[in-house]
Amino acid sequence: MLMGGQTKNMSTESKREAKRRWRIKNADKQRALTKAWAEKNKDRINARVRERYALNPEKYRQKTRQKRDKDRAAYNKSERERRNNAKARAMRSAYESKRRAAKALSAIECAGVNEYFQKTKSSKSVNCYYCGGAVSGSVSHIDHMVPLARGGAHRVENLCVACPSCNLRKGKKTHIEFLNCGQMLLI
Ligand SMILES: [Zn+2]
Repeated sequence: MLMGGQTKNMSTESKREAKRRWRIKNADKQRALTKAWAEKNKDRINARVRERYALNPEKYRQKTRQKRDKDRAAYNKSERERRNNAKARAMRSAYESKRRAAKALSAIECAGVNEYFQKTKSSKSVNCYYCGGAVSGSVSHIDHMVPLARGGAHRVENLCVACPSCNLRKGKKTHIEFLNCGQMLLI
C-alpha cells in the first residue's frame, strides 16, 4: 500500500514537474494558449469580474486607488531621481569647468610670477619700488604690494621689487599704507 501510494504521488509529482518544465521551455506557446483561452472565454471572464465587483465594490475601488497611488509614487520617485541626476550633472559640469579655468589661470599666473622672480634675481641692479634705492637683484626682495595675508593675489600685478630694508619695515602693511606712514623715510 505504502509503495503504491508513493508511486502514485511520485507520478503526480513528476507529471506536474514535466508540465512545469514544458511551460518554461515553451513560454511563448504557453502565453499564446493562455491568450487564446482568455479570448474564447471573454464573456465568462467578464461576467465573473462583474459578479465579484458587485459583491464587494469597495474592495475593488480600494484596489484601484492603491494601484493608482503606487503608480503615482513610483512615477514621482523616478521623476525626482531624473531631476536630481540632471541637477547633479549640471552642478558637476559647472564645477569641472570652473576648476579647469582656475587651473589654466593659475598655470599662467605661476609662469608669470616665476619669470618676474627669475628676471629680478638675475639683474645686476634693481631699484626699490619704495625708496628708489639701487640694490643688486640677488639680494632684492620680491614684495607682494598687498600682502597675501591681507587678501593680495600671487600675481605679477601685485609684485614689486623692494630693498631688504624697506621690505622688512613694510611688514604686513599694504604698499599704500607703507608709502603713507613715513616709515620708508627712515633709511
Ligand atoms: Zn627701499
